[in-house]
Amino acid sequence: MSALNRAPHRASRVTSEPSRDASPNGSPHNSRDGSPAPVPDGTDAVGLVDFHCHLDLYEDHAAAVAAAERAGVRTLAVTTTPRAWPRNHALSSGTRHVRAALGLHPQLVGERAGEFPIWEGYLAETRYVGEVGLDAGPRFYGSFGAQQAVFTRVLQACARHGGKILTVHSVRAAAAVLDLIEAHLPPPRGRVVLHWFTGSKADARRAADLGCYFSVNAAMLQTERHRPLVAALPIDRLLTETDGPFTATAGRPSRPEDVVHAVEGLARLHSRSVREMAGVVRTNLRTLLAETEPDPEG
Ligand code: MN
Repeated sequence: MSALNRAPHRASRVTSEPSRDASPNGSPHNSRDGSPAPVPDGTDAVGLVDFHCHLDLYEDHAAAVAAAERAGVRTLAVTTTPRAWPRNHALSSGTRHVRAALGLHPQLVGERAGEFPIWEGYLAETRYVGEVGLDAGPRFYGSFGAQQAVFTRVLQACARHGGKILTVHSVRAAAAVLDLIEAHLPPPRGRVVLHWFTGSKADARRAADLGCYFSVNAAMLQTERHRPLVAALPIDRLLTETDGPFTATAGRPSRPEDVVHAVEGLARLHSRSVREMAGVVRTNLRTLLAETEPDPEG
């Protein structure tokens, strides 16, 4: 699936208030059935990493958070408007495994650029930022200038605060995203995870040189076109994600424990066992967290 194809698909689902309790595609999602998924070669979902999931877009937000927590999947709950932050923050703050990220989605900037001050007002409450970024797909190109302005201010604010980890959307805009990161968020001031990255191999090398990580989902590994790119990403920068509920597993919206399929795909690409690959991702997350630890010297 190309970036071009997925942009409208995703667009149709991100454009309304994200903190609603309805499933984005109207299909029921029984997130109460949150028992950990069995994982091949003897592990379970405990300790897997879903670094980009929209828990607030499932039919029952609280149940989705509880299910991720019960499954033991380290889940980054991204948001699309800053108005969704307080509830996401409240629901995740009592958990061991779920963390909320403060977002302003590029597909919503056309209507919601005015919410930037709200976003900025919450920034001190979080270590995690997203979903933010740029979308130059046909449906959102009209707001591309406003998106660049907002993303620039997001990066500048994160650089000022320091220690933030950002999950970044880049549809048909890899070079523009990297230009802004290079200009406004030097690696000592924060780290970027490129979510569902579909740039070129040269873009990927440049991103790695800028200190970026990559969160890979199962859909990226299912397409012949993108698999060579994923294979070229540095293994020590790989994280995993579902981007649920915008991806499907077994015909229903993906849940955090479904991230095992991304781990399986990466394991095949790198000729490792699923258990080994899950360990690589865990180590990478640990490194990312260490790189963004607040400097004790200030
Ligand atoms: Mn997303």
